[in-house]
Amino acid sequence: MIIKSDEIFLENEIIPGYLSIGDGYIKDILTEGQADIDLTGLKVLPGFIDIHVHGGNGFDTMDAEYEAIDAISRYKIEEGVTSFCPTTVTAPEPKIMKALKNIAEAKQRGVSGAKIIGGFLEGPYIDKEFKGAHPEEFIVDIDLVGLQKYIDTGAIKSVAIAPNLDNAYDAIKFCKARGIDVRIGHSGADCGQVQEAIKYGANIAIHTYNAMTGLSHRSPGFVGETLVNDGIYNEIICDLIHVSKRAIQVLVKCKRDKVVLITDCMEAGGLPEGVYKLGELEVVVKDNVVRLAEGGSLAGSTLSVISAVKNMNKIIGVPLFQAVKMAAQNPAKALGIYDEIGSLAVGKKADLIAIDDDFNVKFVMVDGKVIKAV
Ligand SMILES: [Zn+2]
Repeated sequence: MIIKSDEIFLENEIIPGYLSIGDGYIKDILTEGQADIDLTGLKVLPGFIDIHVHGGNGFDTMDAEYEAIDAISRYKIEEGVTSFCPTTVTAPEPKIMKALKNIAEAKQRGVSGAKIIGGFLEGPYIDKEFKGAHPEEFIVDIDLVGLQKYIDTGAIKSVAIAPNLDNAYDAIKFCKARGIDVRIGHSGADCGQVQEAIKYGANIAIHTYNAMTGLSHRSPGFVGETLVNDGIYNEIICDLIHVSKRAIQVLVKCKRDKVVLITDCMEAGGLPEGVYKLGELEVVVKDNVVRLAEGGSLAGSTLSVISAVKNMNKIIGVPLFQAVKMAAQNPAKALGIYDEIGSLAVGKKADLIAIDDDFNVKFVMVDGKVIKAV
């Protein structure tokens, strides 16, 4: 199959041309050909990768049912996402186990929309003082036996660890030795503790600025360390609600190609205002803001990746080419899967999307199959 467009976003340039697709892969990039699908007038981009998403369209990863994960995977297609990490929240151990087993099964069985990369275990190994929307009563001390049980489900791609907890560095080494990525956040760690965690292999800061110690002149904090340390990628929720425009600009200026757009979207994504749940807790969605019914903490978002890219471009002022990188190339690199996905290049999976000038997602292809047609 040959796809044509006058603007194809490759790894380092935008070109007019043709993509030859076969067996689920990009076989060739050509300057002329016979197009089977003509996407002239649309921008062809690598499929977006959302590495931190709880749910959407009325479904939550914690529902722990195949139908829920499959519905989230279809929902993600509408915003241009072709791969994602279903994300759990802090809950009683049996509930987390059930959600993880479901992720593993769904990944094996296959889903009908965006592909499952692997689960992100967000909680229970976080700092109670920086819990955000995680229920405090289920936050536990780090114990490697418990962690091994979660890992044994085969579902996990990344684990969240708060670096200031007892045994945090051991847990990071433990995960890395088992091929699991470690993301750090939900933590009162100081800059030295964060630096240490990165030395042991943690490589992603969870929703930068949110639920971590801030930057001040004599205590640069969690935020400060992640802004200057090139050993870590930075998730950011670019909805202009979780983090201000100026703070996002600071991050972009410091970290450029380490910035990763995430949604942290929960089940209300794509639905009207009202009362919903995030894991165990009741939340209220009003004016696009999700807050805990009790206490009023921000509780995830209803953001889409395409809106995050649009905000990065239109409001933060990042060139579109770089904003797209933040949603595809950078997350793939952060998860160590850039040899397979995250850019349009010969030999990579044919995961691609096409958008119009108003950031509407018009076309989506996953593994060489058209999931959303023009
Ligand atoms: Zn969080």
